[in-house]
Amino acid sequence: MTESRLASVLPTERVRIATDASTEPFWQAAKQRRLVAPKCSDCGTFRLPPTPFCPECQSTSMDWVELSGRATVYSFAVVHKFPGYPDLTLVPVVVDLPDAPGTRLVTNVVDVAPEDVHIGMNLTVDFHPISDGWLLPIFRVDTAGEG
Ligand SMILES: [Zn+2]
Repeated sequence: MTESRLASVLPTERVRIATDASTEPFWQAAKQRRLVAPKCSDCGTFRLPPTPFCPECQSTSMDWVELSGRATVYSFAVVHKFPGYPDLTLVPVVVDLPDAPGTRLVTNVVDVAPEDVHIGMNLTVDFHPISDGWLLPIFRVDTAGEG
């Protein structure tokens, strides 16, 4: 069968998150459909995933900066037949966030034929409901941007 499937996400109830003091602001912002990243208040280094100490200057202070939601594909995989969901096709991606130099996010790209995904592809953020009322940042192809 040569049918082309579109990338999807796991069903809402299958995705759970755990937050702590250093990651909670990320998820609270996502709930408001905003993508944010922590930036060191002292030296300006972005640190995503959030860490208690700046890897550059060991500062513990940080500001949460709102990003544009644009990203580019750094790496990706195509997952067929996820256990329990033989009809799903998942495309987990690692994206570069140009607004937060040096950071990468592990996420999913959705609503795209997996064979069309390529490194360097422009994406834009969207938010997908998951368990317990949280929203998960996911990415779609940015049709407005240049490929
Ligand atoms: Zn720093």
